[in-house]
Order: sequence, then structure tokens, then C-alpha cells
Amino acid sequence: MTPTTRPPQPACQAAAKAATAASARQPAPAYGIPLPVDLTGSPAPRYLAHGEWRQSATCRRGDFAWWFAKPTSARGRAAVRLCEQCPVRRECLAAGLLYGEEFGLWGGVNHLERRPLIVRLLRGESLGSVLTSALGSGSETNRTEVA
Ligand code: SF4
Repeated sequence: MTPTTRPPQPACQAAAKAATAASARQPAPAYGIPLPVDLTGSPAPRYLAHGEWRQSATCRRGDFAWWFAKPTSARGRAAVRLCEQCPVRRECLAAGLLYGEEFGLWGGVNHLERRPLIVRLLRGESLGSVLTSALGSGSETNRTEVA
């Protein structure tokens, strides 16, 4: 289901790379090829791939290993709690779903929890609708959303 063969790059790892790239005056890393889904109500793919949203990621300040820990472990549960407070949670889950990420937490949602969400997307439900149902109302505040 993953559209590329590049190594996994969860948001926290991407944020670190983006910060490194910015300090070295290099372009931030892009994601792969987005899944062909209805983008209505979701952040724009260009914004997700190159946006500054990653600079606001809560996980930039944490131990990256937490976001790869077993979901039932203490570290895994702690990472989910941090994600629930993250100001870019919607963007993060959107990126994880749109780019078919297989590893790590995205928006506080682990790989097993993302599978049914991806199935809904591939069946035609819009990404905005899936994000809102997964994260709750009030998460749809991004001004970069696709109309
Ligand atoms: S939602 Fe979680 S994984 Fe995503 S950017 Fe925020 S802290 Fe990181």
C-alpha cells in the first residue's frame, strides 16, 4: 500500500530532518507520492509535504523512540498523550494517511489504527471527514484545507 520505497519517516523524524536541513540552508525533505484520495477538507498535500507545521510538532522535543514504541507500552502510551496535546495533530495524521505511512505514530494514531482509516479513504470517504472522525470535531481549523 505504500507508494514509495523510501525509509519510514514519521513526523518527529521528519521534523528533525527539516530542522537540520533548515540550519544547513537545504530544502526540507519531501514525502512520497500521495494516495489518490478525496482531499476535501484536508490540509493541502503541498502544505503537508513542505509545510512549516512540523516546526510546531510536540515530538520535536521528545525522545523519538517513544513514537515507535509498542502501543501498549508505557512509552507508547506516553507518546499518544503528547500527541493529543500537539497543535499540529491534524496535519500529522493527514500526512500519515495520505502518504501511507506504515510505521510510528501519526497524530497519535498507530499503524493498526490507521489501516481502517485508509480503507475508508480508498472507498471514497474524504480525508477531511476521516480526520474529523478520528480526531474529533474542533480539529478542522487549518486554513490551508482543500475546499
Ligand atoms: S501529533 Fe504526535 S507524532 Fe504528530 S507531530 Fe504531533 S507529537 Fe509528533
